[in-house]
This record gives sequence, structure tokens and C-alpha cells, in this order.
Amino acid sequence: MSEASFDVIVIGSGSVGTPAAYFLAKAGLTTAVFDAAASPGRGDNRAAIGGVRATHSDRSKIAVCQESLTIFKTWQETTGDDLLWRQGGYTFVACDDNIESLLKALLVKQRKFGLDIDWVDAARVKELVPGIESNGLRGGVFSPGDGSASPLMSAHSFKVQAERAGAEFHFGEAVKDIKVEDGRATGIVTEGGSYAAKTVILATGADASETGAMAGLDLPVVPDSHEAGVTEAIGQFMDPMVVDLRPEEGSRNFYFYQNSEGQLVFCITPEPPIIGKDRRSTSVFLPQIAKRMVALLPRLRNLKVRRIWRGLYPMTPDGFPIVGHSPDVEGLFLAVGMCGQGFMLGPGLGALIARELSGRATETDQMVLTDLRPDREFAGMEALK
Ligand SMILES: Cc1cc2nc3c(=O)[nH]c(=O)nc-3n(C[C@H](O)[C@H](O)[C@H](O)COP(=O)(O)OP(=O)(O)OC[C@H]3O[C@@H](n4cnc5c(N)ncnc54)[C@H](O)[C@@H]3O)c2cc1C
Repeated sequence: MSEASFDVIVIGSGSVGTPAAYFLAKAGLTTAVFDAAASPGRGDNRAAIGGVRATHSDRSKIAVCQESLTIFKTWQETTGDDLLWRQGGYTFVACDDNIESLLKALLVKQRKFGLDIDWVDAARVKELVPGIESNGLRGGVFSPGDGSASPLMSAHSFKVQAERAGAEFHFGEAVKDIKVEDGRATGIVTEGGSYAAKTVILATGADASETGAMAGLDLPVVPDSHEAGVTEAIGQFMDPMVVDLRPEEGSRNFYFYQNSEGQLVFCITPEPPIIGKDRRSTSVFLPQIAKRMVALLPRLRNLKVRRIWRGLYPMTPDGFPIVGHSPDVEGLFLAVGMCGQGFMLGPGLGALIARELSGRATETDQMVLTDLRPDREFAGMEALK
């Protein structure tokens, strides 16, 4: 029996692979997605707290996330599916000189790239985040167009809509090998069989390094773990995602927002980073973040936490994703190293990848593909990674 053949095989039905399948199928490319897990978004997509912002420090992530925002905002109208999208904005608060200077410097760049973001004074931050500790508060930046959505509902909807557009999904089918003949990727091998494709897309998140090695690549993607949690639901009192960039012993920054169901969802960046694939919750996280959240917003002190979890950021040396045609293996397209922003990058990247593979890439797409190319120097550093 001859093996099934596709225009595109996507390895990984996560934050990136699932929306990519939707846009690829919409572009008329025969598309098959393979994932080791039993359903979409079961990798680190499900660990994401759902923040979606275009407020980054460089033009490529800004451009991709601006498109993601448009996709999230219009998804219900386009498809009828509710992703629990909520446009509450983002506010990065400044409580010391360093953070104020950093945010104001970034603001110049961000506005140059067309972002709807501005400096707001302490009084405005207090309106946005009622009850925030005012001692030392300088103000902050506020970007009203940013927001949040449910990662699990998004993964489910992207998968259903991708299937409607003609893509097929193979769950519980781990990819064991990427077939490379004469320097060209020709397909994949799974436990269930062998499949051919003109292009293979690697969208394997924290497993990028191991799966890249199947094609002989040495990808600089190293997982580090982050924990998050969710509280009981309370009456809606604040709209934006609040980000506090001040470092403290044991952590770099932390962020939280109130979701459309009234729960507060929160996350912290450990310092030093905790490298590895351990996804077991620790006893350190909750006391650490509770102390920081209550110090910033004392009214949270009696709120009950319902659940915590731990997942992985697939990190690159410079904090930017690796996106583009592999320079070493023809026919292999890399969409890995999403760091802490794969959920917000996913839809925009999916749309870009579909344009690139169907010969419709725009000038902006080419700029993104140049900035995020796999063979860059990795010399820079994302300021808001
Ligand atoms: C606590 C926490 C909070 C976060 N909050 C946010 C947030 O608010 N906003 C945001 O944008 N990002 C957030 N992130 C980051 C985000 O979760 C990741 O960047 C994103 O999920 C990575 O997307 P991905 O598609 O690369 O990987 P994944 O979503 O992990 O998908 C990779 C898929 O590949 C599959 N796979 C791997 N190997 C194989 C194989 N051999 N064969 C077949 N399938 C395979 C896996 O099963 C998985 O489904 C957060 C992360 C954590 C841990």
C-alpha cells in the first residue's frame, strides 16, 4: 500500500501547530497534524494563562502578535466559537526608577511600530487596578487592545475549524523519525506508519531539541519551568493583565489578571531559571507569588487559590522564537522556541506560515522570517521575554 501524502505535515498540535493547521488548510494545502497526546493543546498550551499582547520589544513579535490579536478578536464572528476572549488590556506597572525608565524607553519603539500603548500616571493605574498599593507607584504603560483568551478552548476550536477546512489530525501518534533523503525532508515515521509530505513543520514546543535531532538538527531550545495558578471567582473588579517587572529574591517578574469568569490567574518567573522538564508543582511557588501579589494588591489577601500547575517555556538563547525554513534540511520548516509567548504568537504565526508556504508572503512576513530565522546569531536579548 502506498503511504499517505500531504502538502504539509505539522508535528505538534499545540499553541502553534493547531492554528497553523487551520490557516494551512484554509490556504488550500492538504494538511495533516500529528501529536503524541490524545487531543490538541495537551503540551504546554494548556499551561499558558491565556495572556495575549502585542506589547513586545521588537518589530517581529509585535507584527505577529498584532495579527494574533486580530484573529482572537474576530474569531467568534468568523467561526461562531467562543474562546473566552476578553479585551482588558495590559498594564506594566512602574514602582521604581529602573522599571519606569525601561518602560518609557520601550514605549518609543512600541509606538513607532504602531502599538496602541501609552504612559499613564499613578492615578490612572489606580483606576485600572482598584486597590493597588499606591506607595511608590509611579504610573505605568497601558495597552487597551491587548487581552486574554482560554488556551484550551482556543486549541479545541482551532482544531475543529482546521478539520472543517480539510486538515486531518492524528492524535496519540508520536513522531519517531523525520525522513531526510539527499538533504531534503520527505515525510515522517510514527508508530502507526509512514507519511510523505512536501513540507514538514516542526512545532513541538519543549520537545524541539529531541524532535529536531530526528532530522539531524541541533536546535538551541531549552525548556525551563514556570508555575501558575487560579483563584476562586469573585465579582469583576479589574480588566487588565497586571505585570510587575521588579525582580525580588527568587523571582524576576510576576503577572496576573481576572478572567472572564471572575477568577484571578497568575504566574511568576523564577530566578534563576529552573531548567528541565519537571512539571510537578513545587511548595515554593504559592507562598512566593502570594506574598508578591498581596504586597501589590492588598485586597487579594483573603482570596482562595483553587489550583496550581507547572509547565515549560521552550526557551531560546535570545528569548525570540525560531521560525523559518531550515537552512540545513530542505522542506523542513521550524516553528519552535516560543519561550513564554507561544499562545499569543500561535495564530499570527500560523497565518504567516500558511502565506509563506502558499507563496503569498508579504513584506512584513519576510521581515519576520528574517528576524526570527533559524541561523541567526542569537546575539540580542528580548527585553520583555
Ligand atoms: C505557567 C505558564 C504560563 C504561560 N502563560 C502564557 C501566556 O499567558 N501567554 C502565552 O502566549 N504563552 C504563555 N505560556 C507559554 C506557552 O504555553 C508556550 O510558549 C506555548 O505553549 C508553546 O507552544 P508550542 O506550540 O511551541 O508548544 P506546545 O503547545 O507544547 O505544543 C507542542 C506539541 O508537540 C507535541 N509533540 C512533541 N513531541 C512530539 C512528537 N515526537 N510527536 C508528536 N507530537 C509531539 C506535544 O505533545 C505538544 O502537543 C505560558 C507557559 C507556562 C508554563
